[in-house]
Amino acid sequence: MSVAVLIEHREGHVSRPSLEALTLARTLGEPVAVWLGDAPTADAVAQLGEYGATEVRVAAVGADARLPAKAAAAVAAATEDATVVVVISTFANKEIVTRLAVLTGAGVVVDAAGAELVEGKVETTQTVFAATWNVRTRIDAERAIVGVRPNTTQASPAASPVEPNVVDIAVELPETRETVVSVEPIPQADGVALDEAPVVVSGGRGTGGDYSLIQDFAELLGGAVGASRDATDEGWISHEHMVGQTGTTVTPALYVACGISGAVHHRGGMQASGTIVAINMDPDAPIFEISDFGVVGSLFDVIPQAIERIAAHRAG
Ligand SMILES: Cc1cc2nc3c(=O)[nH]c(=O)nc-3n(C[C@H](O)[C@H](O)[C@H](O)COP(=O)(O)OP(=O)(O)OC[C@H]3O[C@@H](n4cnc5c(N)ncnc54)[C@H](O)[C@@H]3O)c2cc1C
Repeated sequence: MSVAVLIEHREGHVSRPSLEALTLARTLGEPVAVWLGDAPTADAVAQLGEYGATEVRVAAVGADARLPAKAAAAVAAATEDATVVVVISTFANKEIVTRLAVLTGAGVVVDAAGAELVEGKVETTQTVFAATWNVRTRIDAERAIVGVRPNTTQASPAASPVEPNVVDIAVELPETRETVVSVEPIPQADGVALDEAPVVVSGGRGTGGDYSLIQDFAELLGGAVGASRDATDEGWISHEHMVGQTGTTVTPALYVACGISGAVHHRGGMQASGTIVAINMDPDAPIFEISDFGVVGSLFDVIPQAIERIAAHRAG
């Protein structure tokens, strides 16, 4: 099975979810990496080889490749021989792969939590309807495109690293009515992007607007800071931290909800997380219904103790 993985990169660095996608792709076949933009550095190529990419196909498209129609054309050119294309299920990629599916006649599933080959066909798993149902989908088309959510596969290097060939792909981009004039990366203040973070520590109205403990806890766990809509509406923290139906959907390995009641709109954006921990003063808070671990108490008492115990455990 020939599998192509669209690599996400920022300032030359391969994103962690792309390594997860390569790890998943290895279970489906022999992956090649597709790289849109300026040529990757030797380090990036080596890392892709470490995760099993036998080839790195570089489509040196300019800033216009940020436009989904053009990106889809570039990916189509780089994946002509691929039976399966794997991408990370970001907002931008979801639009790119729907266009790619139209261009190539492939069947497409986005927001998958996993994929495997069953009798020669790709089957995906995903949670839907605010993570209240698990769905298994078989892609019957000859070509399959799978958008996988970050943190749903544990990234692990291949048993034996390969030295990928770097191949330039010539692409003729379609005319579009828009042109990208300039692209500038926005500095990421928090270090970890919310939708990619392996750990998310979120605070709600129960913080009373004091996010210092939430930030300390997130930092200790190497995670990102999330929030409920009430907290962002209060102006306690910016809207880009909002988790939920109208915010970001997250699927970290660990989600810690602090002072969040667990309204359906919030749950819809985090219920598919690996392990859910809730800290809430109200033993009847709905968040406990979906939590793996619950602590009834004030976050101002519980988080400092948790930080202390984790720090002591690490030191010991
Ligand atoms: C169309 C629509 C879309 C929406 N989209 C979203 C969305 O995307 N994301 C989202 O989050 N919400 C969304 N909402 C809002 C949602 O319905 C809830 O109002 C919101 O999630 C509640 O936020 P909260 O849990 O922080 O506040 P509350 O519901 O007020 O809960 C606060 C919790 O903190 C606990 N608490 C208080 N003090 C402490 C303390 N010291 N220590 C520990 N616990 C404490 C309380 O017991 C309580 O359970 C949406 C609503 C609508 C109508």
